[in-house]
Amino acid sequence: MLLQELTKERLFYYFSELAKIPHGSRNTKQISDYCVRFAKERGLEYHQDELNNVIIIKKASKGRENDEPLILQGHLDMVCEKAEGVTKDMTAEGLDLFIDGDFLGAEGTTLGGDDGIAVAMILSILEDEELSHPRLEAVFTVDEEIGMLGAAAIDVSPLKGHTMLNIDSEAEGIFTVSCAGGVVASLRIPVSRELTDKNVYSIDISGLTGGHSGIEIHKGRASANKVMAGILKELFNRIELGLISVDGGLKDNAIPVACSAIIVCDAELNELSEIIRLIAQPIAKRYKETDPGMKIDVNLVHDNKKASMVEKDTKKVIDALHSLPEGVQEMSPDIEGLVQTSLNMGILTTTEDHVEMSYCVRSSVDNRKNDLTDILKKKAEETSGELILSGDYPGWQYKQDSVLRDRMVEIYKEQYGKSPVIEAVHAGVECGLFAGKISGLDCVSYGPNLLEIHTYRERMDIESARRVYAFTRRVIEDL
Ligand SMILES: [Zn+2]
Repeated sequence: MLLQELTKERLFYYFSELAKIPHGSRNTKQISDYCVRFAKERGLEYHQDELNNVIIIKKASKGRENDEPLILQGHLDMVCEKAEGVTKDMTAEGLDLFIDGDFLGAEGTTLGGDDGIAVAMILSILEDEELSHPRLEAVFTVDEEIGMLGAAAIDVSPLKGHTMLNIDSEAEGIFTVSCAGGVVASLRIPVSRELTDKNVYSIDISGLTGGHSGIEIHKGRASANKVMAGILKELFNRIELGLISVDGGLKDNAIPVACSAIIVCDAELNELSEIIRLIAQPIAKRYKETDPGMKIDVNLVHDNKKASMVEKDTKKVIDALHSLPEGVQEMSPDIEGLVQTSLNMGILTTTEDHVEMSYCVRSSVDNRKNDLTDILKKKAEETSGELILSGDYPGWQYKQDSVLRDRMVEIYKEQYGKSPVIEAVHAGVECGLFAGKISGLDCVSYGPNLLEIHTYRERMDIESARRVYAFTRRVIEDL
């Protein structure tokens, strides 16, 4: 099939129009204005805020005026990733869509099927004058991919609905109905330094598998920051050393794949390398299945003029890194296989006067999340440091009685001839934030098959998108 054939369908027409507009997180003015223009041209009520969130409201079709309004929600921003060597400026240029068999992709970049397909579906539905529908309240949020900032800030007062379809899941046939809450907790430990004339070495851990700190936290993969903590702790027990810096990980919601430390000590390179090799042996063994690519390099640093942390602060930092909990803390007692509570030290950074450990703490039980931040707070007190909490969002609790879920299951069975899978997810989704703002919110998250989202290999299953679109229309008609 040719792309120009596919875009004759309104769903894919809108998807390809959106793909022409650069719309990475924090770069959403243009795509937001596109939605506003769409509303204006059709005489629909709209609200746009300074963050670029957009709400578009379409009155109920004839005879449906007394039905419960329905909120349709997705996010405008996408993750911008490129293959190596691709020169496209994703802040200024649109995507180059292509069809590969049954899939839609973008040449050398992410596709933004997450979550452009939701926006395309909702616009196609809003423009449709044939469809029977209740009052529709389309909500397009921004900066979901960098901490759900749009959903956190959006003013929901134009909304009358208490029922919401969130079209931001990547596996057809799975309805997500509950999620974990979370908070970013940054533990900042102050350090003092002294000049030293000892040898300076770098220790680099790389090649780990990594993954999402929520949905992949139970897979037992190594965290580069935690592996480094273990090595430094053992090393500190064996030789006299000073820490200059320790840095690892880039995102608090990703399991870190690399970490580097710079240390000073009297040992010679071959001596130090041998000690670290021995320390690393059991670690490599422990993670040989999950992280077969793990590499640990030790090198002499020639031109490092920085001062090292004084001994007591070196000890303080290494102890904190080593002693704090990490990974899965508790499994859900209600849903088999679901992680209830976890934390991930995603970013570790060192400056002149402090070391900062930034954690993503998650739990579907708000109290358990608070228990973990209390442990971090206690460590902050012990180390004369501070704990900074940000981006706190509530969990989205499973709703025992959900009219929406039950009806969607029925409609799904009629269309697909089988039942959908009902799931809870150990990660934040925007539904959690909306559940916190709209009392008694009845919500289901679902979507078409998207493969390898957030990578340049992202693909959208075209047939799956068609089916989910047809399903969404039926839900609107028959709810
Ligand atoms: Zn998304």
